[in-house]
Amino acid sequence: MQDVFTTGKTFRAYALPVTLLRNGKLEVAYVDFVYEAMREADDSIIGVMAVAVEVTEQVIATQKIEESEKVFRELADSLPELVWTTDKDGKRTFMSRRWKEFTGVDPWQDNALVSLLHPDDVLPTREKWERCLQTGDPYNHQLRMKNSVGEYHWFYANGEAIRNAAGEIEKWVGAYTNLNEQKIAEEKLKLTSERFRLLADSMPQFVWTADAEGNLDYFNKAVYDYTDITAGEIENGGWLQIVHPDERDENIRLWLNAIKSGNDFVFEHRFRRNDGFYRWQLSRAIPQRDEYGNIQLWVGTSTDIHEIKALDEEKDFFIAMVSHELKTPITSMKGYVQLLQHKYKTSKDDFLRNSLSMVNKQIIKTTRLISELLDVSKIKSGSLSLNLEQVKVNQLVKEVINEIEHVHSGYNFHFTAQADALVFADRERIAQVLTNLISNAIKYSPGLDKISITTEIVDASVKVSIRDYGIGISKTDQQKIFQRFYRVEGKNENRFSGFGIGLFIASEIIKKHHGNIGVDSEPDQGSVFFFELPILP
Ligand code: ADP
Repeated sequence: MQDVFTTGKTFRAYALPVTLLRNGKLEVAYVDFVYEAMREADDSIIGVMAVAVEVTEQVIATQKIEESEKVFRELADSLPELVWTTDKDGKRTFMSRRWKEFTGVDPWQDNALVSLLHPDDVLPTREKWERCLQTGDPYNHQLRMKNSVGEYHWFYANGEAIRNAAGEIEKWVGAYTNLNEQKIAEEKLKLTSERFRLLADSMPQFVWTADAEGNLDYFNKAVYDYTDITAGEIENGGWLQIVHPDERDENIRLWLNAIKSGNDFVFEHRFRRNDGFYRWQLSRAIPQRDEYGNIQLWVGTSTDIHEIKALDEEKDFFIAMVSHELKTPITSMKGYVQLLQHKYKTSKDDFLRNSLSMVNKQIIKTTRLISELLDVSKIKSGSLSLNLEQVKVNQLVKEVINEIEHVHSGYNFHFTAQADALVFADRERIAQVLTNLISNAIKYSPGLDKISITTEIVDASVKVSIRDYGIGISKTDQQKIFQRFYRVEGKNENRFSGFGIGLFIASEIIKKHHGNIGVDSEPDQGSVFFFELPILP
């Protein structure tokens, strides 16, 4: 003030912090000060005029803006994207730290961006950006930008106009996102899928895929070569047209089942070739799951099994014919042997009597084998019929055990009849199943003499279980032993004679009775074979 008084020069100070006593309290406030000399007519200074205008509100508002800009800058700098802002005309006002790190170029240098863009991208980028500046539409665009060692990376550029309350554009905010890793992964994926496509196309088998809902969405070249329907038709659900009409319904049913349950799809069906001929195929599809176990797609193959099928049919025909032809001579042999046994019942010639008994045993074995082969043919042709009657299960089990005890004396059969049940069944056929399961229990537990048999009621069925303590069966084999001609391979294969049809027949007989057959077993721990039949109330 003294200075102003002596020199006459006006003094101004802005946003000066002062302490004010307001409403009895001391407060920090901001004021703009002006000290101006007051002069007489002759220009001599006679005093100083002081004007103080309080600007606290404005100062605090400015501080807040500065603070939020600082936060924005820190946030933008911490992001992996290259964040930028411009004014309403597109002139750059901010560029995050990452830009410099990536490009090695000072963003405030003239033409900084243009010099880094891939030459092919310069014009499209400029056009796109200028159009957005005019229209105010969001900016999004892909471009290549050079890094500090001169390698181009793909970026996704996007930006938005920020408008004021009146709707006028005030500035633009946006970012460049580095897509290089993603682009590299995409390229790799493209290469891998091309390789797999090539692989699939070079195979004679049909390869196809379906989405999680079961819609078929890819077929390899072999499919298109084989059929006469067009690619468009195949891809739009038309593939069913090439399946033989006789197998279509079952095909759809099994496929929908697989989709619903997530279990593998396995089916034998005929496909129509481009000359109209149908060939048998074995189709199999397995679901591919993601890390959470959700099915992502199904991969399927179909293999031509036409020749194998034809051979199988020939084999079936041969078995049917041979077993039929053998039946008559063996029956007559059996008759003659029994006559001879009767005739020499009291003979002193031990050798003769023993030999006849031996021949008889072998003939019984052969007869059983032939009748089993005949059963297989009957099952194949669907002519295995049942003579249904009321059967007391426990009584039947006892009878079968008695019969077997005759032949295999010295065995301990433990029969635990927990409940007596009445079933509607073919007595002979169920006896056949029991004989088969007990004979297997004996055969596959060499050197042991204990077999346990139980009957019990489970829900609305009677369950008959036959337990042995023998060689047991692995989990994988357990799924297959009920198939025709399946025998467990390995060290035991030649140790036990057999054909691999006993369990097949047993399971077909039980299935025909609307029952259930199965096995529980551990290798070297023995096996429990069981079947269940619905009981009569
Ligand atoms: P076969 O006994 O004539 O070979 P089956 O159909 O009766 O034919 O049995 C199929 C296969 O199942 C047998 O070859 C054998 O490997 C296995 N198997 C059947 N029963 C038993 C059992 N009680 N213990 C161990 N393995 C068995």
